[in-house]
Amino acid sequence: YNDGSKPDISREKSTQLYEKAKQYFPGGVNSPVRAFKSVHGAPLFIEKGDGCRIWDADGNEFIDFCCSWGPLILGHNHEKVRESVTEALQNGLSFGAPTVLENELAELILQNNRYLEKIRFVSSGTEAVMSAIRLARGYTKKDKIIKFEGCYHGHSDSLLVKAGSGLVTFGETSSAGVPKSFADETIVIPLNDKDAIEDAFGQFKDQVAAVIIEGIPANNGLLIQEQEYVEYLRKITTENNALLIFDEVITGFRLGFEGAAAYYDIQPDIITYGKIIGGGMPVGAYGASSDIMSYISPDGGVYQAGTLSGNPIAMAAGIAQLTVLKNGVYKSLNSKTKDFVEALRRFVAAKNYKVKIFSVGSIFWIAFTDQEQIRAASDIDPASMEKYKVMHRELLNRGIYFGPSGYEVGFVSSAHTKTDLEKTKRAIFESLEVVFR
Ligand code: PLP
Repeated sequence: YNDGSKPDISREKSTQLYEKAKQYFPGGVNSPVRAFKSVHGAPLFIEKGDGCRIWDADGNEFIDFCCSWGPLILGHNHEKVRESVTEALQNGLSFGAPTVLENELAELILQNNRYLEKIRFVSSGTEAVMSAIRLARGYTKKDKIIKFEGCYHGHSDSLLVKAGSGLVTFGETSSAGVPKSFADETIVIPLNDKDAIEDAFGQFKDQVAAVIIEGIPANNGLLIQEQEYVEYLRKITTENNALLIFDEVITGFRLGFEGAAAYYDIQPDIITYGKIIGGGMPVGAYGASSDIMSYISPDGGVYQAGTLSGNPIAMAAGIAQLTVLKNGVYKSLNSKTKDFVEALRRFVAAKNYKVKIFSVGSIFWIAFTDQEQIRAASDIDPASMEKYKVMHRELLNRGIYFGPSGYEVGFVSSAHTKTDLEKTKRAIFESLEVVFR
């Protein structure tokens, strides 16, 4: 190990479990990125988490920056969330009838968010966005949707569409099994490009129901959009009688209670949530003005339902997590993330590495690039992911767990202490030294 790399951690048990899992599940997993296809080795089977740490089946311990892909803003096994869930469990798991917990979570959200009047709970981010799109279509009586290349909105048919190469492309399906006729209703354009959206509205005049954008795009690197551009999206959608949907499945309650809407101080027409809102349980939500929400069944003609929607255990987890957040977490969380990110930036600058660290709130993304800003998916060099792969392995070997793809962002939680972040910084420094050796 003269090159500074560390010996690999043992993955014996994880590998055995993975081999078994491959007999049961396609690719051995229940969600594709978990399969570690773009990083080294077999996926780690996680046995437990506590605070900012997780332990795998081989007993390896890691400081976790994936945090279940974002929901665990208070870290794993937070006392208040655990207590709230345990208490709710005593009363039964599900009724398929209204419970007071739904009211409580809704109150907590609506009383602390100027951008929403009514909300509907569902069971995942995918469901939230899928329902929001149906609502936008029902409300505007138009069919087409504009989405952005590099924004992920879950796996419903009309959103699993990526961009082709032209300025305005008809959707090209990025998943087999999505009918072309569905994809044709989705227009995909690049982020940060006013001409592209103007052209799209020109070409599909009076046909666009909604423009959907991630509050801050964070599924394909961290593509922070400029204030002026997001304001332009607000303006052009209003002018064209199309709705503006902020998909805040990641940014909701991550950038604060009012998410990206408050970050930009822009009123979207519909907002979708997931992840943090459920405290680690399967919850999603969408909300809007009372007028727009009146189109939802049973008030209106847009049908949307769910056996487990508003599930009491899930509501209890959400209530506990959001209550802790409301009582003041963001300031210290964001400031410790800022210190962490700035230290990384100083290090890579001093070393002259082709690395940039992009960050907002408690989200960060380590990009192997020398561009000062990356605002569009096409600005990411796929070849740079090879470097991420090396870094990922080195980090695991140093007890740091990052998401298994270089396109994924990292999440800091309130459970990460300064000492944990100090240790992580040192591990990143050493790992980058291996990457650039
Ligand atoms: N929208 C965004 C912005 C997301 O990041 C995700 C998931 O990562 C989704 C929607 C889909 O959410 P879920 O995985 O809960 O279905």
